[in-house]
Amino acid sequence: EPELAGDFAELMVWADKHRRMKVRANAETPADCKMARQFGAEGIGLCRTEHMFFDATRISAVRQMILAEDEAGRRAALEKLLPEQRDDFHQIFHMMAGLPVTIRLLDPPLHEFLPHSDAEFTELSETIGIGTDTLKRRADELHEMNPMLGHRGCRLGITFPEIYEMQARAIFEAACDVAERFGEAPVPEVMIPLVATKRELAILRKLVDETAAKVFAEKGRTVEYMVGTMIELPRAALMAGEIAEEAKFFSFGTNDLTQTTLGVSRDDAARFLSPYVEKGIYARDPFVSLDIEGVGQLVELGAERGRATRADLKLGICGEHGGDPASIAFCEKVGLDYVSASPYRVPIARLAAAQAALA
Ligand code: PEP
Ligand code: MG
Repeated sequence: EPELAGDFAELMVWADKHRRMKVRANAETPADCKMARQFGAEGIGLCRTEHMFFDATRISAVRQMILAEDEAGRRAALEKLLPEQRDDFHQIFHMMAGLPVTIRLLDPPLHEFLPHSDAEFTELSETIGIGTDTLKRRADELHEMNPMLGHRGCRLGITFPEIYEMQARAIFEAACDVAERFGEAPVPEVMIPLVATKRELAILRKLVDETAAKVFAEKGRTVEYMVGTMIELPRAALMAGEIAEEAKFFSFGTNDLTQTTLGVSRDDAARFLSPYVEKGIYARDPFVSLDIEGVGQLVELGAERGRATRADLKLGICGEHGGDPASIAFCEKVGLDYVSASPYRVPIARLAAAQAALA
């Protein structure tokens, strides 16, 4: 099992004395949470809930939810998913023992969950009792020309609020149960992805708050929580002052922010990016090391405008750049409160955050 020991562990202790920024991990499985803690993560900065939906035992309920003809059909499928999702969060809250956990509501375009082969469609049809022709027609309707700029992120929450409602319910039920059983109150930070406007966030924050109030009334207890947003679109960075009226925290999603600011697909960049770096057009791969001149300006501006509205706005970064030393130095300069990186990068991030603070 990976664990920090000996000189390396001591180096980390020295680093921790000097750093100002907290270091969290991007994690969604109990195994990743365990590793994150062994490596010294001080919370979860990004729990991507979509990964949980791919689990073999629940994918047919997820597909049923997506392909349902109406809200009643979606709600029936979500009923099946609620206990599983609650269990996911229960485990994570318990493992993180009172540390902050940022849970991001569903983000990817729905077609990512759909069956691919005829055999898979037939199997799904038999499991959920809807004809294959109907399922295929519904699947075709979900086809998008540009899915990464399409029906994803908070746009799912706006069009299918029952999905976000189920996830919020699972979060608060799990938080109450863990507080009751183990006495350690987790601090869920519910994060809304791909927000571009204040109104989107206002609608979804209300949904989360109302769901929390219902669950707290049912459970006869409350837990502290926060609702915040990812800043991962240029418009959100520019409008951060207004968006901060609805958010207690911002987490910069620099993967999407790089994609949308440079107009470069994060999934296809490998085809042409190396000559760009060789010719010095970009100093380094901008998806690995933050493009400080361009994307960095939006981060800085978003942080400034957000804090001008809400002085105690919590600020973090959860894109891949959160584990890159040069980008971490920039985050220190901007005054972010924490960086979040994959568990294996947590030690590097602790060291880089200390070096940045000393510098
Ligand atoms: C991001 O866009 O930077 C981010 C952290 O979210 P994801 O990579 O899941 O889109
Ligand atoms: Mg993103």
